[in-house]
Amino acid sequence: MFDVKLVHGSVLDGTGKPAFRADVGLVGDRIVEVGDLGAAEARLVLEAEHRVVCPGFIDAHSHSDAYLLIEPSAASKIYQGITSEVIGNCGSSAAPRLGAAQIPSDWRTHTYPGEWRTVAEYRRLLESVRPAVNVVALVGHNVLRASVMGYEGRAARTDEIQVMERLLERSLDEGGRGLSTGLIYPPGMYATAEELLALAAVVARRGGVYTSHMRSESSGLLDALKETIGIGRQTGVRVQVSHLKTSGRTNWHLVEAALELMEGARREGLAVAADRYPYTASCTDLDVIFPNWATEGGREAELGRLRDPSLRARLRDELLATRPERAWGSITIGSTSEANVRFRGMPLEQVAEELGLEPVDAALYLIESDQLATSAFFQGMSEANLWRILGQPYVMLGSDASLRAPWGPLSRDFPHPRAYGSFPRFLRAALDGKTVPPAEAVRKMTSLPAGHFGLRERGVLAKGHYADVIVFDPGTLRDRATYSEPHQLSEGVIHMLVNGQVTIRDGSLTGERHGIWL
Ligand SMILES: [Zn+2]
Repeated sequence: MFDVKLVHGSVLDGTGKPAFRADVGLVGDRIVEVGDLGAAEARLVLEAEHRVVCPGFIDAHSHSDAYLLIEPSAASKIYQGITSEVIGNCGSSAAPRLGAAQIPSDWRTHTYPGEWRTVAEYRRLLESVRPAVNVVALVGHNVLRASVMGYEGRAARTDEIQVMERLLERSLDEGGRGLSTGLIYPPGMYATAEELLALAAVVARRGGVYTSHMRSESSGLLDALKETIGIGRQTGVRVQVSHLKTSGRTNWHLVEAALELMEGARREGLAVAADRYPYTASCTDLDVIFPNWATEGGREAELGRLRDPSLRARLRDELLATRPERAWGSITIGSTSEANVRFRGMPLEQVAEELGLEPVDAALYLIESDQLATSAFFQGMSEANLWRILGQPYVMLGSDASLRAPWGPLSRDFPHPRAYGSFPRFLRAALDGKTVPPAEAVRKMTSLPAGHFGLRERGVLAKGHYADVIVFDPGTLRDRATYSEPHQLSEGVIHMLVNGQVTIRDGSLTGERHGIWL
């Protein structure tokens, strides 16, 4: 007697093997049979005729840390078929947050169901809200560093690195599975090779993963890749290049050299992988365009410089001198504070026109009046390179987004559409013959990340494995979120089970939430 039986489906088991027809039987949180289960009884039978049954997707690059506490349904992710999220990326995790460490501006505007500082406290709070997805947590280097030495823009002393190592060890003991860096953001950008190697070595000893938003994704891409791969070579840590890309038209030609570096490292036997979202615009805080001196020292210091007329003038001059005229045209405003809602989704040049300002001044105006909470879309990637990168066998899918929901407090900002659409968008392209075959696409979203993060008995639809399973309709599966209307759930995931419990049934949330800390 099964608890659940998925019948008549076409199974893509996550290994990359072609689809085969089979029923799937579940008992408790496990898959117990895959085959012809025609006669066997089950408490619940879910029809999968003309549909595909596969393992739940693993979002190899997520930022849902804080938002899982507010919207544990994880709606924007669940509707993409995602059953596990790897949180804490780009140096920016919710925990640990000791000393002067602060959560990012966009997380600060919300109310949370409790307080947390350490990874253990975050985990307890997260478990108390019962998230719908499983969670794999990385320790963010920026908060780790700020916990020890604040937001000072300088290299760490040896004794400070040692304190970071201890805090990292403790955070991994409390359930972290690796370290993420965000080396374009303060204060991570001030880390020396010595600091990164010492911390990566801690992760390597525990078999964890080192993910990196590297120092450059544009003209300095190849050097940044060499640094990242070198950390894997010197420490033995498993490496994941975050959102691998060639940013800026003048750097698009670097793609082949970048892939050659990745392949060379893999031929050497290094465990090097990457993640990518299937869009050509990036999204981050608008103040990422500022030179380092302007963001040093934490948010109060940065806001203080914007209020100081002479420093603001210096910043303006530098922005004009370092950014080509046309670069302003590649920026579209995303989230803002309530005061600037009318500018959401609007090209910066249009914002400037409406305000009667130059684009540079419009950017400074928004950043200051939004108290650093302005996000922006930067149109700068090549479509051809996107598919070239996604086609590599070691590239996993990662949304690079916090979850959202079209209702409640998380419906009020203006996210990149990748928060709602990444996985169905990639799978749709595979089903339509525009990228790798569907079996390979599913492998890149299931067994590949499961193996990379060491998630045992997940990522493959097989007897004995955990029952993270989805059923999707290959005819209707699609993403709906756009840059102008981002809060749109994806379509086509018909049923979803997380740890054996039905989370989506006939296309609707059941209200069950059974994700666990992995
Ligand atoms: Zn990043």
